[in-house]
This record gives sequence, structure tokens and C-alpha cells, in this order.
Amino acid sequence: MPIQHHPTPILDEHWQGYELARDDRHRYVWLWYGLNIRLVAIPDSPDGFTGWDYGWCYPRDPALVARAVGDWDSDVQDEPMGWHKRPSWPPRRAPGRDEDPAYNRPRCVHGCYLHEGCRTVNCREFLAYAGSIQAEHITAEGLA
Ligand SMILES: [Zn+2]
Repeated sequence: MPIQHHPTPILDEHWQGYELARDDRHRYVWLWYGLNIRLVAIPDSPDGFTGWDYGWCYPRDPALVARAVGDWDSDVQDEPMGWHKRPSWPPRRAPGRDEDPAYNRPRCVHGCYLHEGCRTVNCREFLAYAGSIQAEHITAEGLA
């Protein structure tokens, strides 16, 4: 089933968070998490009682997270937009990801597309990516 976005977030008593959407694999729930909000993909199975498969950290702005999930098509898009840290590995891969190759280009752990560069100084994934292309083309804004 394609992702179903809830018109109003549903309180998840167990996780103490708010479910924004679900598809046939996961429920997408955000939690207050220290200085951030963490959006997690909770398996829609008994495993979802004790753990989650994918996570993305956002600023403490529930409306921002709701917009990011609301704009997201989990069938063809690997990950939502707008997060600044991915605390899970490996990154999520959408089942129909080949239908949206531009959206699904590789991103670093900070949510930046590698071909655009990363705002985080010395991002290891960006440096590895850039090194694999040609180091002399790197500028402060990304790849020239
Ligand atoms: Zn990065």
C-alpha cells in the first residue's frame, strides 16, 4: 500500500510519540529526543514493540517534521527531506526507488546530497565521495 498520511497525528502510547503516516512496512512516528526530534520507522510487526529500523533527526519543530513526512512518498523516495542526522545504518531504500533517481541520489549522514557537498566541516562521507571523484574540483560550496 502507498504511504497513508494521517490528517491528524496519532498519539502512540507505547513510544510516547506521534504517528504521522504508515505504509505496508512501517509506521512513521516522531519522538522528542534530547535537543532534537527523532522520526523513526517502526516495523508494523511485533518487532515494532522494541525497536525501529530507520531514524532521522530533525530540529525540535513538529510542523517541520509533519511537512517533511507529508511531502514524502515512501514507495519511490528513500528518505524524507529536512533532517540533519541519520542515526541508523544502512540508509532506507524505497522499493520503487528507480522511479525517482534524482531524489534518491546518495546522501551523507547529515542529509546532504553528496554531489552538492555537505555543510558539516570535514564530513567523512563527503570527503570520501569527493576523493573518489577529483579532489581538485572541490570548493567550499561543493563540487565545481
Ligand atoms: Zn555530511
